[in-house]
Amino acid sequence: MTQTQQLIDADVTGSLEGQDCQFCAEGSVRKGTYKENDAAVCDSCGLPVAQVWS
Ligand SMILES: [Zn+2]
Repeated sequence: MTQTQQLIDADVTGSLEGQDCQFCAEGSVRKGTYKENDAAVCDSCGLPVAQVWS
């Protein structure tokens, strides 16, 4: 992975943080992991909103 791609991935995950979850009513998006990859996941239902592939 290039440094540029890492910066883009970090921006995608960071920009989603704090947004309302699209899958449930009460959750909001937090930075976390999904299937051992960095991802933006809901803090309520745990579903990934965006996954950063490494
Ligand atoms: Zn949710």
